Amino acid sequence: MTFVPTVSPPAVLSARPRWFVVRQLGMLVRDDEGQPRLPELEDLPRLGLTPESAHYLGQLDGEDCFALEAAASEPPAPWAARSLRSLYSQLNEEEFAVAGRAVQIANFSATHRYCGGCGQPTARDASERCMRCARCDLVFYPRVSPAIIVLVRRGPQALLARAARSTTGFFSTLAGFVEPGESLEQTLHREVLEEVGVHVQNVRYFGSQPWPFPHSLMVGFTAEHAGGEILVDGKEIAEARWFDPHSLPPVPPRISIARRLIDGWLADVGAL
Ligand SMILES: [Zn+2]
Repeated sequence: MTFVPTVSPPAVLSARPRWFVVRQLGMLVRDDEGQPRLPELEDLPRLGLTPESAHYLGQLDGEDCFALEAAASEPPAPWAARSLRSLYSQLNEEEFAVAGRAVQIANFSATHRYCGGCGQPTARDASERCMRCARCDLVFYPRVSPAIIVLVRRGPQALLARAARSTTGFFSTLAGFVEPGESLEQTLHREVLEEVGVHVQNVRYFGSQPWPFPHSLMVGFTAEHAGGEILVDGKEIAEARWFDPHSLPPVPPRISIARRLIDGWLADVGAL
């Protein structure tokens, strides 16, 4: 499946457009024998929606895709709001990525109805993904918050940490948001030092992943331990250790780039 993002819909829509109806940070779907089904055009009036208010997203395998903002009230049966996370295992990767776009764009639109400068209502731009204020010409773009995520290695071992606010008990890679004025590398060195007290070297780009919970872009790296003993900050990180590939703690599921980093390390040391 391939997705081609575009801001403006074509003059003639594809045969079966796909409607991603967003409610808060989830999507409205109906259960079709265990498989979540998206609404069709004829379902929209029952959901109190009109296609005219939709945000065009682009084409997935030649079908036009739209995001719509649902009302905050409970949807009428058989429709139910499902969290984006819970849909991960039931949608394929491209569909999930489009759903993530839909959630972020609908939420961006819902929270930027008024200009932050002068308070006047904003309007959608016809050609760019942004909201504009006609009065003071301020432009608002969807929020994307970059964060680094890094797997630190020491010989065959890797540093994994349990976050203080984690409810899952997973040990994962270290991560942190980029601050204004920082390069990704500076963020990485700062976060690793702040969270676990070690210095790293040989930083290498690994890959990236949009993380729509609610609007991050995770930029993944690997790095090597350069010095210092683990000393957790006790605020963000509750516990951190060097793990051998054959005695792993519980690690995050496959939805995350953290797991791809961990699996990459395991494959590299011949443990996967
Ligand atoms: Zn304004």
